[in-house]
Amino acid sequence: QPASIGVDVGGTKIACGVLRGDQLLERHVQPTPETGWEAVLDAIAAQVQQIQTAHPDARLIGVGIPGPLNADRTRVKFAPNIYGFTDVPMVDGLRDRLGQRIILENDAKAAALAEAHLGAARGAESSVYVTVSTGIGAGIVINGRIWRGRHGIAGELGHVTVMPGGPVSGAGLDGALEAIASGTAIARDASYTLNREVSTAEAFSLAQQGHPGARRVVMQALKHIGVALADLQKVLDPEVFVIGGGVASVGDFFFQGVQAAANEYAAGFAPVTIRRAQLGTDAGVIGAALAAQHG
Ligand code: BGC
Repeated sequence: QPASIGVDVGGTKIACGVLRGDQLLERHVQPTPETGWEAVLDAIAAQVQQIQTAHPDARLIGVGIPGPLNADRTRVKFAPNIYGFTDVPMVDGLRDRLGQRIILENDAKAAALAEAHLGAARGAESSVYVTVSTGIGAGIVINGRIWRGRHGIAGELGHVTVMPGGPVSGAGLDGALEAIASGTAIARDASYTLNREVSTAEAFSLAQQGHPGARRVVMQALKHIGVALADLQKVLDPEVFVIGGGVASVGDFFFQGVQAAANEYAAGFAPVTIRRAQLGTDAGVIGAALAAQHG
């Protein structure tokens, strides 16, 4: 069975593994360097080389990046949540370091591919995967293939404006969904409301215990996510939505809030079917490895 390497670059960590068939064999994780993109590329190359000493036949390499790519997938336009990541010649930079061919993919599109082929959207003709974490992103998969759009940005859900004049996203857009409903936004709003430093996880646990301030902040975020899904149902009418990412991993409370808002705003057009991601934190690595196989 062909083996491929998947690398999932996040705002805080870089994860890397080998996919053989449908098995993820190894998983190495290291912090994302905070000294600019050259250092990030060095770290990725070192991790790939380390994995290849144990798996010399794994020559297909896919890298998932949390930001929009250019249309031919050679450069990262910007990664709103990684320091110093603007207009990065990623494919050339990694080829210089590794002397091997690299396939680049957006992180949410990669995870969408993984959930469509091996996870919660398996068997669905069309699916939209949404990640709710530091940022918010999405990947649209139709008949097993990612829908990229004309410029490659299809699925940039986090930067859709849902509240003009509202808080500003990492891409500089006011009222963007990720500036209102991402993990970062929830922690910011909960900290402001409670007048002390509150993490996203704490905001959720306080909300679940009925703390009125935390509950207002969290429910507002869940409502915006649910509304976004109901909107996407009306635009794309996918068979199923899959939600993953660190914020969604809080579980029942998250999914109940999102589903309730989606049902309300579906307004009788069509049901909004939402499933939990099945591949958890491995979705990004598996998806990047699948992207390498798909080319
Ligand atoms: C980026 C997306 C990415 C998402 C999740 C957003 O800020 O624009 O490309 O998929 O975060 O990491």
